[in-house]
Amino acid sequence: MFELFRRNRRTFLRHVLGPSAVGAAVSGRLSAATSKKKARSPVARDVLGELGVRTFINAAGTYTRLTASRMPPEVLSAMQSASTRYVDLQELHEKAGERIAEMLECEAALVTAGCASALTLGTAACVAGASEENVRRLPDTTGMKDEVVVQKAHRNAYDHAVRNCGVRIVEVESASELEAAISEKTAMLFFLNHQQGAGQVGHEEFVRIGKRHSVPTMNDAAADLPPVENLFQFTKMGYDLVAFSGGKGLLGPQSAGLLLGRKDLIEAARLNNSPHSDSVGRTNKVNKEEIVGMLVALSLFLERDHDQYWKEWSRRCRRIAGVVDGLRSVETEVFVPEVANAVPHLRIRWDYERAGLDPKGAAERLRSGEPSIEVRPGSDDGLVIGVWMMAAGEERIVGRRLRAVLTEALDSAARA
Ligand SMILES: *Cc1c(COP(=O)(O)O)cnc(C)c1O
Repeated sequence: MFELFRRNRRTFLRHVLGPSAVGAAVSGRLSAATSKKKARSPVARDVLGELGVRTFINAAGTYTRLTASRMPPEVLSAMQSASTRYVDLQELHEKAGERIAEMLECEAALVTAGCASALTLGTAACVAGASEENVRRLPDTTGMKDEVVVQKAHRNAYDHAVRNCGVRIVEVESASELEAAISEKTAMLFFLNHQQGAGQVGHEEFVRIGKRHSVPTMNDAAADLPPVENLFQFTKMGYDLVAFSGGKGLLGPQSAGLLLGRKDLIEAARLNNSPHSDSVGRTNKVNKEEIVGMLVALSLFLERDHDQYWKEWSRRCRRIAGVVDGLRSVETEVFVPEVANAVPHLRIRWDYERAGLDPKGAAERLRSGEPSIEVRPGSDDGLVIGVWMMAAGEERIVGRRLRAVLTEALDSAARA
């Protein structure tokens, strides 16, 4: 499956990896801003500190609002190096796309401004195609196929990026409804990967229906890395387009993403994209730094020892659990979400009523404490800690703060 990538393995290693890259990435190097010597150089100016912006330990995960992830030093240095020279943006887009397609064993690839941008550009490719007139006209879809069929369970906030192309979303539930909804107006069938278990139509049937009616299919797999196999399997399964975030599990630039798939569609996506000024994608600019950073982040991700990362994340969960296990009524559980952010997380429950403190209240105390800690938002079942975006060692601080918050609540309850 990874044959091409294996063949190029040594080249990747030589170009993008130092010998200790995995260790360094796992252990997470602390900011150079703490070193006195570096603090005098202009690149180390601490703007966040100057502005008084709160910084925190990310015990949540790859959430955009929390700035999601930190780029490995290899990514940053490649971006910095690229930033000192000029290139033709189109040429870089094409060559980087070719290299990425080789690495991922797919027909073609485009570095986009995040996964949301990949969704817009992929849709634009299906609606406007490569016609210059159509590219200029979007989001007015006059004379174009302008319906996108989606399973009801796959509707989500990010499909706004699809709707940016002026299309109408047609919702269906069953496979027969899906087929019946397809007409000469249908531009694309849209699938949301993390809802694969929720809709009635699974991957294979979805792709088969698309092929049978010659309508392109797109899979939004933004947050579905790891497992690394996802970078290969959806294009091989027959999806015409697959979209990933560059700044989530891949640890690339926040403002980067990947659109993979059929050559003609990727070419059309390019024409609907910046630097073409009169296009729907002109708001989706990526410059050379993001393109280069995305490529290096992807190489690092493909090369790394995924088992080692998994073990380290599990160890962090167990370590935090070990610090709070044994407190009155406290229960901990390590779990892995089935899809999307499918890495070890820690769930902590306690007697909320007795403690006079629920998970939301505990999250607020962790946030306002010192150092500030953000936990995974949006859980209505316990306090959930995401350990994979922390720097090594921060799990000790999180464990200590969590123990203090819970002990205080449970002790004062016991005294009352
Ligand atoms: C995060 C996410 C996106 C958007 O990705 P960006 O890289 O932040 O643009 C789109 N779809 C889903 C399902 C996501 O989780």
